[in-house]
This record gives sequence, C-alpha cells and structure tokens, in this order.
Amino acid sequence: MINNSMILIVDDEPANIQVLAACLKHRYRIKVATSGQKCFEVLAEQEKPDLILLDIEMPGMNGYEVCEKLKKGPHESIPVIFVTARDAIDDEERGLNIGAVDYITKPVSPAIVDARINTHMLIKHQRDLLEKMALHDQLTGLYNRYYLLEEANHKVALSRRHEYELTLLMIDIDHFKDINDQHGHPTGDAVLKKVSSLLIELNREGDITARIGGEEFVVVLDHCNAANAEIKANSIREKVEALKPDGINVTVSIGVAQLNDDDSDGGFTGMLKRADVAVYQAKELGRNRVVLS
Ligand SMILES: [Mg+2]
Repeated sequence: MINNSMILIVDDEPANIQVLAACLKHRYRIKVATSGQKCFEVLAEQEKPDLILLDIEMPGMNGYEVCEKLKKGPHESIPVIFVTARDAIDDEERGLNIGAVDYITKPVSPAIVDARINTHMLIKHQRDLLEKMALHDQLTGLYNRYYLLEEANHKVALSRRHEYELTLLMIDIDHFKDINDQHGHPTGDAVLKKVSSLLIELNREGDITARIGGEEFVVVLDHCNAANAEIKANSIREKVEALKPDGINVTVSIGVAQLNDDDSDGGFTGMLKRADVAVYQAKELGRNRVVLS
C-alpha cells in the first residue's frame, strides 16, 4: 500500500525536483508542481497526493503561504515537509509552527530524505486506516452509526441555515432473522453486503449511507423533499426485490421522514424516530413497502 503512495514535489527549480525525484521514485509515484499556484491545481485533480514536499523560496506564492493556505483548506490532512535551503532555526520553527510535519535542509542527503519520508508515510497510512475503521462498518464498508450521528447534525444545521429540504430513509431488511436461520450467517452477511453495494450504487454524491444496526440502514438525502424521497425509496425497494442475492428473495421496508421544525434534539434524532415509526408501520402493513412519516 505504502509503495503505491504518491508524493507531490513543489519546487520552482527543475534541478531540485530531479534530485528529490531520484531519491524517491524507486518507491513512490511522483507528481511535480513548479509553483504554489500549480500545487493547488494538482490538488484539485482526482487523485490526491499522500505527502507534499514543499520548497520555501518560490516566485509568487512562497512555501509558507502555500502551507498556510493548505492547512486551512480541504487538504489539511495531507502531511507537508519543507525542503529548503533556508537553514536558520527561525525558518525551521516557522515552518513547523504553521503545520509542516518535518523540515529538511538542502543540499539533501538521499538516505535522510528517504528515511524521513518513509516514517511520515507510515504515520499517514496508520492514521488513514484508524480513521476508516472508526467511521465505517467493517462488514459492508458503509458508514457506521457514529459517523452518521456526527455528520447528521452538521447536515441538519446546513439545511436549516440555507433553507433546503433534508430527508431520511430508514431501510430495514424484511425477515432477516429467517435468512440467517435458514441459510446461515455467512449467507446473511453476503446479503447485507449485496444490499449495501446496491445502496452505494444508487447514492448521489454527498448522500450519507450508513449501516446503523444488524439489518438496518439509513440514507440521508440533501436537497430532497419527502415526495421525491418516497419515489427514491420505492426505486430502492424494487431494486432490492430484483436483486435475489444467492437466489434468496430479499425485500426491504422503508420509512421516509423529512426534517421539520418540530423535530426534537436539534432535529436529526426526531427525524430518525419518525422514520423508525414509519418502518414499523410498513412492517405492520405487510412489509416490502414504503411508508411516509
Ligand atoms: Mg526555490
């Protein structure tokens, strides 16, 4: 995993880029940018670097400015290492204070560059892994309840501030216990995975899909009112019914609730409770159906 990592080298002098790339290219993929401006252009691309090596003295935006901007933006978690001819203690202190993880002075020693970068890369990957484990359900890869509750309050606040509609689907697999009992838990797990993959496939960017219980899922839909959410829920219900994972008939009951002003506890918990009641009603009415709260 670490061997496939990508490093972005930002330096205005091609000779410096070549020296660094020569130290690193046997182990990492390399991208380059010859100015601060170009650094942000590279960061706007689909694949983000795992680590940035940043020169300080550059025309236009200097390295400190690049680092400060980076640490305030969406890429703040990418580690930055300054690689610079400035060897004064004050410069190093400044670099570390604005968020760089390390400071290497030129001329560089290839062995030192290699060793330091490997250390930071390892820390970065361990942190990414911990974050993934903390926020995702291990079996399905969907977000977990913790992430949902953390993120949902944020979504509720945005929806209230900007006055757009926010809706929630609570999706519960019908008679899941019977599937486990009749076919065994490995098959039950396979069903959960296949339903989860379908939910991800049907996601729009920005929707949250989480597994919050054994066979219970939640989808949070931004900019979506109850009527449109009901259409979406019915489409999910039909697609699950058509899925027949491992030849087993699987259906879901779905409760739909739109955020309203009366929802308690800041909003999300109230909406979640109403969706839960709607799922219960869908079960009572015979399952494999959608009920609007
Ligand atoms: Mg320079």
